[in-house]
Amino acid sequence: MALVLHDTLERRDLPFEPLEPPRVRMYNCGPTVYSYAHIGNFCAFMLADLLRRTLEWEGYPVTQVMNITDVGHLTEDDVEAGEDKLVAAALREGKPPRAVADFYLEAFHQDRRALGILDAHHYPRATDHVPGMVEAVRRLLERGHAYEAQGEVYFDITTFPAYGRLSGNTLDELNAGARVAVHAAKRNPRDFALWKRDTRHLMQWDAPWGRGFPGWHIECSVMSMALLGESLDIHTGGEDNIFPHHESEIAQSEALTGRPFVRHWLHTRHLLVDGRKMAKSAGNFHTVRDLLGRGHEGRTVRYLLLSTHYRQQQNFTLAGLDQARAALARLDGFVAWLRERGGESPAAGASTGHEAAAPFHASLDEAGRRFRAALDDDLNASAALAALFDFVNATYRGADAGPAEARAALGFLGDLDRVLGVMRLEAPAGPPAEVRSLLAARAEARSRKDWAASDRLRARVREMGWEVLDGPSGQRPRRL
Ligand SMILES: [Zn+2]
Repeated sequence: MALVLHDTLERRDLPFEPLEPPRVRMYNCGPTVYSYAHIGNFCAFMLADLLRRTLEWEGYPVTQVMNITDVGHLTEDDVEAGEDKLVAAALREGKPPRAVADFYLEAFHQDRRALGILDAHHYPRATDHVPGMVEAVRRLLERGHAYEAQGEVYFDITTFPAYGRLSGNTLDELNAGARVAVHAAKRNPRDFALWKRDTRHLMQWDAPWGRGFPGWHIECSVMSMALLGESLDIHTGGEDNIFPHHESEIAQSEALTGRPFVRHWLHTRHLLVDGRKMAKSAGNFHTVRDLLGRGHEGRTVRYLLLSTHYRQQQNFTLAGLDQARAALARLDGFVAWLRERGGESPAAGASTGHEAAAPFHASLDEAGRRFRAALDDDLNASAALAALFDFVNATYRGADAGPAEARAALGFLGDLDRVLGVMRLEAPAGPPAEVRSLLAARAEARSRKDWAASDRLRARVREMGWEVLDGPSGQRPRRL
């Protein structure tokens, strides 16, 4: 079995194969840091994380880049008429754009850590790469793919016949669909801006054709190629990035290099909340911090986002979060049950001299196979979770879970959680040294059958905030 991913450009499943195995170079369209990222944005970031974790779990070394857009992302569908989102936020908040970007970038990192999203290797910021963008625009002009008009620079889409292939739009359709008055400077309504001139803009840089700021699409082409090279293995984003953003990235990048830009394009479907498009005005707009503020754990949100395949439309509901919490409670209960059965230390598997029973091992192997097959099938995390729960149920039902099985099961869960990132596997913190020495004295008293001393010691342990449960495997301390 090998990993198969659905490719948006080819519109079919393709076996995954890095250009220069085994290293995988992956670029994820990241947040525009003008406000808190919402739960729909995190759908796309979760896909990036699931892909990164799956690739690493399968043994590929990954270099992951997620860009931070802090200039040039225009509001409105018609990007030519819109206002830069960062500038709009700066004016609204009365702060410099850099301060607005810094603030929401930090908030993004807090939110993503709460969801267990691993650190990418690079988070390039568009404002740190403007000289590279100016150079790319200069080369596109030089090669005849772009033209200058009134201090602005546009990409000429007629010079790139494949324009429209990713989104399935033909040039005729694109032109017919242009809804707004054509910018006087443009030759073609769908030519997109590489460089914008705006004397009122709060962020401006010098360029040979005049002061201004870069277009959003050129940012991603320049930053991805600067950090990962001219051809990427994987590029991800939300489906709303397909057009015009990714379509334009392909045109610019391939016009610059003459080489295929991306091998695998992956896009998440739009998320709905309560069956509708999420909107502040509809009252169904959620940020991660809103959900944490309602008392949900980050891993619960993560679990819920994982439980729908990335190419299916997720309908996010608060009831769904409650179900995710119940599923995680079941996993936590299973972990505690395994611990009680003597599976405290997965590393010390051989110490009992008791081999794990054959039916248990068959069930574990089967679960491992199904888990991997599900991920290999275009990252079907919901099917992977189903395999995990079947294993949980089979292990509870099986009569043969002793210490060796419990340890093997805990080790297995730890391995799967490298992909899932939702389990609580670390041992709960043990009692402090004073309590431990009282427990040792109590164990000694009990071996002498000195029940009075044992009870006195139990009372002292209790005063220190711990209770003692006596079981077949000895004393177990538990926090009160
Ligand atoms: Zn992008």
